[in-house]
Amino acid sequence: MIYIYNTLTGKKEKFEPLEKDVVRMYTCGPTVYNYVHLGNARPAVVFDTFRRYLEYRGYRVVYVQNFTDIDDKIINRAHELGIESKKLSEKFIKEYRIDATKLGVREANFHPKTTDFIKEIIEFIEELIKKGYAYIVDGDVYFSVRKFKKYGELSHRDINELMVGARIEPGEKKKDPLDFALWKSAKTNEPFWKSPWGNGRPGWHIECSVMSTRILGKTFDIHAGGNDLIFPHHENEKAQTEALTGELFAKYWMHNGMINFKGMKMSKSTGNFVVLRESLRTFGKDAIRYFLLSKHYRSPIDASVELLHDAKRATQRVNETLDRIAKLLDKDLIIPSSESKWIKEKRSQIVEALDDDFNTPKALGVIFDVIREMNSTDDKTILEEGYYLIREEFGPVFGLFDVPQENVSTQKLDDVLKVVINVRNEFRRNKNFEMADKIRNELNNIGVRLKDTPNGTEWSID
Ligand SMILES: [Zn+2]
Repeated sequence: MIYIYNTLTGKKEKFEPLEKDVVRMYTCGPTVYNYVHLGNARPAVVFDTFRRYLEYRGYRVVYVQNFTDIDDKIINRAHELGIESKKLSEKFIKEYRIDATKLGVREANFHPKTTDFIKEIIEFIEELIKKGYAYIVDGDVYFSVRKFKKYGELSHRDINELMVGARIEPGEKKKDPLDFALWKSAKTNEPFWKSPWGNGRPGWHIECSVMSTRILGKTFDIHAGGNDLIFPHHENEKAQTEALTGELFAKYWMHNGMINFKGMKMSKSTGNFVVLRESLRTFGKDAIRYFLLSKHYRSPIDASVELLHDAKRATQRVNETLDRIAKLLDKDLIIPSSESKWIKEKRSQIVEALDDDFNTPKALGVIFDVIREMNSTDDKTILEEGYYLIREEFGPVFGLFDVPQENVSTQKLDDVLKVVINVRNEFRRNKNFEMADKIRNELNNIGVRLKDTPNGTEWSID
C-alpha cells in the first residue's frame, strides 16, 4: 500500500485513486521564456519518477504537464528580443523537450499549452461570473476570494492573516485586496484574444484549472508541483475550480521542496551549472537524476558543483559494477527463474521505502548496499540477481543505470548502414554509378567511409 503526504490534509495518507488501477495526475509545467534551470528539473524528475513507480506498482497513469506559454515574463523577454511572444514560447517549448529527453523525463500523455485553451478559459470564467464568484471591472475579471468559504484550506492560511500583507497595487481595479485576476484587459503591445469583456489575456492561475479539468475531469487524483506554488497559485486554482464545480478538485496534493543554490558560485571557467543543459553536458543524466532523487522530494536540497561531482561518481560506481558483471556473466543469460530469499528481501526494502511517501534516498541506499555486496562476492546468484534487480527492475523506475548506450546505438548504426550499402549496391548493379557515388560521397561528408572489398562493402567511421 502506497502512502503519500497530502499537503491538503497535512498528513501522510493511504493512496487510493478514484478509479481502481488508474491514476490521473497533473503537474504544473514551466513558463517557457528561457532555458530551464536545475530548479525546474526537480519537479520534472521527481514526478516523472513517481509516475514510473506508480506504473511499477501496477497502475495505469494518465499524466498531464502543461506549458505556460503566455505570461508577463514571456511578453517582457519577447519585447527585449524584439520578437513575437509566440515565437519565443515555441522555441523554448522545443528546447525544454530536448532537455527533458536528455534528462530521461518521459513525455506526458498530454502537454497542453495555455494559448490552445483560450476558448475553454473564457467559458470557465463566464461560468464563474454567472455563479457570482467573479466580477468585471473595465475589461478585467477578478475572482472574489471571500465568496469561496474554503479559501486558505490548501496552504493552511487564515483569510484574516492573508489580509495583513494584501494590498491593491496602483492601477489594479479589484474590490478586495485578496481578489486575483482571471482575465486581464489588453495593454498596448501585448498579445490579446477577444472575449465577452473586451480584448485581453488570461491571468496565470486559471489556465491550470481549465486544462487539468478538461483533460482529467472535475476531480482527479494527484495535483503536483513545487512548494513555491502552494500559495497563491494552487490555492487559487483550487478555489476557482471548486467554486465552479462544487466538487473536490484534486484528492492529493504533492509538493517538492526547493533547491538552494547558495553553494553554486559560478565562474566563467566552471560554467553555469544552474542551467540544466550545461549541467547535463558536464555531469550527464544519471548524475542529475541521482542528485535530485538522493534527497527526499519534500526536503530542500543544497546544490553545489562538488555535490554534482559526487553524484556523478556515485552513479558511475553503480554502472561500472553492472557493466563488469554483465561482461562476466554474459547478460543475455540472466533470467532469474527462481528467486532467492536475498533478492526478495532487497526488493521489499526498496518497495517499502518508496511506498512510504516516496522515500527515494532510502530506496537508493538499498541499491548501494546491493552494489557493495556484489563487489565483495563471487556468488553467482547474488551477481545475477543484483544485476537484474538494479538494471532491469528498478533502474527503469528511477530512470537510472541504463544498459550502456554505445552498444545499442552501434548495433543500430550497423543495421542502418547495411540498408544504405544494399541500396548503393543495387544502384551499382543497375550501372547507375552516379547515384552510387553520390551515396558514398555524402556518407564521406559526414565521416563515414565505405570500402568495396572482394567480400562486400565495409564501413568505418573517422
Ligand atoms: Zn499550475
